[in-house]
Amino acid sequence: MSLNREAFNKFAEMAGQLADMDTPVEMPDDQRVANAKRVMMEKMDAPKAAMLESCIHCGMCAEVCHFYMTQEDGKFTPILKLDLLKRVYRRELSPLRWMHRLYTRDVTIEDLEEWQELVYDTCTVCGRCSLICPMGIHIAAMMPIMRNAYSAAGMVPAELHLMDSQQDQGHLFGVGKDEFIGLIEQLRSQGLEIPVDKDKADIMVLTSVLDIMVSQDSLIAMIKIMNHLGYDWTFRTDGYECANFGMLSGDEEVHLKASKKIIDAAVACGAKKVIVAECGHSYPALRYEAPDIWGHALPFEVLATSEFLGQEVEKGTLKLKKAEGVHTVTFHDPCKNNRWGGVEKEPRAVLTALGLEIREPDSTGRTNICCGGGGGAFLINRTADYRQRVFELKRDQIDATGSEALVVTCGSCRLNFEVGKMKSNWGKPVESLVEMVGDNLDDGAARSGTGSP
Ligand code: SF4
Ligand code: SF4
Repeated sequence: MSLNREAFNKFAEMAGQLADMDTPVEMPDDQRVANAKRVMMEKMDAPKAAMLESCIHCGMCAEVCHFYMTQEDGKFTPILKLDLLKRVYRRELSPLRWMHRLYTRDVTIEDLEEWQELVYDTCTVCGRCSLICPMGIHIAAMMPIMRNAYSAAGMVPAELHLMDSQQDQGHLFGVGKDEFIGLIEQLRSQGLEIPVDKDKADIMVLTSVLDIMVSQDSLIAMIKIMNHLGYDWTFRTDGYECANFGMLSGDEEVHLKASKKIIDAAVACGAKKVIVAECGHSYPALRYEAPDIWGHALPFEVLATSEFLGQEVEKGTLKLKKAEGVHTVTFHDPCKNNRWGGVEKEPRAVLTALGLEIREPDSTGRTNICCGGGGGAFLINRTADYRQRVFELKRDQIDATGSEALVVTCGSCRLNFEVGKMKSNWGKPVESLVEMVGDNLDDGAARSGTGSP
């Protein structure tokens, strides 16, 4: 199985036109500044203030940020990306604000314009800087506040702003419920059994616009795996899309609306588990952030695809054959699954069950370096050079392992690697974990179809 090249090219062409298709938000500049400051103040609390005031300017966060590592420009130092937040805190909320106002500049529209590149283009909210800071400053956890502020100011990059509007209208890149149903019908006509809109099901499976458009083999693989396992599962046409552009842009309304569709569909069918497609950001968007915005704990478990597959392998329910044609692989951990979600051993358990030797690069697992396209950066056209440099850093690390293929579990990482490959003539195959599993199900060990998850 592999990426659909024709669909990939079409997707890349559409992605290149997003900025031109967007309608910018009209707002007076002073209103933009006031809105951004209001959100920063609303989201500030004592622990965040303490973190912002704890920086000892050691610069260690810069040394581990892939954008600083590849540009070596001091402006990409992670903590400086939060400077506007710190200034607003000091001038408006700090106990010593009367003093700070004497020497801390107020935030201006020019500042907001300048920081947009730091908040979106050169931060993938990967969390690597937060690991290293000796003062325990969780820079990445505060970056979404900056994005919330930019959203309130109507200053989200055009590509992400357009995707917000599309998500709000129920379609992404022209793919909505009808297109999803059309694909399901097409796959059924090819002989696949696909449960859709069951009234009751133990497991609800999500897909993503990338799988529907570009990586249909991933979707097919997941269907085959679920049928092979024999669980009571379903897709729901009222909650199938896991991508959440509200989380990427900082628009909490869009974020919650997208998450609520999934939550409502899962509650309606009584799902005990919801499995997120191979899509990095969708995992924290639903698992961690949706309950915060919604204000309730989720009444079901949320699992990344690789997490689910690894658990099934470890339980002995998912039996796999030895993968053919490749013996050694490097696994790229999506930041949002591993660093944020702790999903590390599960994909490796799957690769081992496929008989593969895993060759880890210098930075791996929890300390893995982002693909460079996370946090929505993949869609922002002007970040292409930044992303390519990060790709080259990754490529060199992966090549140094001597492995035959790279395995990924995030559609966005996959596309970012594919773009990097094309631009640098890199010959390494980039494989999807779920597709490898779908290709190597041990049919002799299929379950009876009556199991519970
Ligand atoms: S979260 Fe990642 S991309 Fe953002 S500043 Fe930190 S290390 Fe850099
Ligand atoms: S690593 Fe922490 S203390 Fe050092 S400069 Fe970065 S934020 Fe400040």
